[in-house]
Amino acid sequence: MLKRKKWVFDYSALIITATLTFTSFAAYKQKNGNKEALEPSNRLSHDTAVKEDEDTISPFSLSEDSDKGVLVSNSTENLLTNKVDKKGYEIITHIVKAGDTVEEIASTYNIKTSTIIASNNITSKTILQVGQALQFPSSDGLIYELKAGENLWDLAQLNDSDYDRLLVVNNIKSPETLQIGEKIFVPDVEKVKSPSSEFKRNTNQYASASYSRGGKVSFTGIMPTQGTISSKFGKRWGRQHKGIDIAANTGTKVVAFQSGKVTFSGWNGGYGNLVIIDHGNGIQSYYAHNSKNLVQKGSSVQKGEVIAKVGNTGNSTGPHCHFEIRVNGTPVNPLNYIN
Ligand SMILES: [Zn+2]
Repeated sequence: MLKRKKWVFDYSALIITATLTFTSFAAYKQKNGNKEALEPSNRLSHDTAVKEDEDTISPFSLSEDSDKGVLVSNSTENLLTNKVDKKGYEIITHIVKAGDTVEEIASTYNIKTSTIIASNNITSKTILQVGQALQFPSSDGLIYELKAGENLWDLAQLNDSDYDRLLVVNNIKSPETLQIGEKIFVPDVEKVKSPSSEFKRNTNQYASASYSRGGKVSFTGIMPTQGTISSKFGKRWGRQHKGIDIAANTGTKVVAFQSGKVTFSGWNGGYGNLVIIDHGNGIQSYYAHNSKNLVQKGSSVQKGEVIAKVGNTGNSTGPHCHFEIRVNGTPVNPLNYIN
């Protein structure tokens, strides 16, 4: 669970801090260019063009590194512009000396033994060697390496952590630029649940997700890209995934799942580079996070025609194609429409 801290601020200091914060947020937005990704309402959803995931924004606490005059607030603005210019943790390397025990090392650094044990894969059979280097974060929690198809939001949800807090302690200012293999500090956990392996374990649960699931349909098409489905349609960790994610290398062809007319081709917030094709009868298909769109609005495309290249743009971790089908505007399970 999160440690919550309460801070008492001198009122005048609060106003000054708030003013600084406001100014720097404007500057940050301008510099970043990708405004959509920073909107508070977007932070909760993997794909932001449909904003229906307006959960309660929970309060958060900051890292131990808290004497920076940072406000405790539930405002994304404050979070993104606070004065934390470095990560909220460090990696400590401790060289084992004669007589060291994990308990003593933990107490020296004021962290839990479990942080050292889990960070170094220590088991009851492990014997510490003098001169051995142990590495662990400077506050309780673990380092996790992001895998293909995973994102920070899922990681936070799955580990009962707070998305904003992960941004702050890891000093992440543009979550949309995270790469596979990026090291993320997850505070206060003794074991990190991996979104991709948790997803595999719960396949049945996702398969039974009821979200306009529908049965057999007569209108079908083909898979838009070659790859592995890294995330299915429907409920995952308390919110709805409006399509499927197909993990594939950047540059892999994305093809039209069925013939139709391009009604959108461009940048769309969390979707990154997005192509929307209208197939008539109220059916539309969405292809998101592309590295490049290859068709223009108004073009007619044939089933199987290359329309884009797989990428990692928008709110995405690792290259993948987010594929949606909407019927009269409502997302449906694309797999029911693939033959
Ligand atoms: Zn997706």
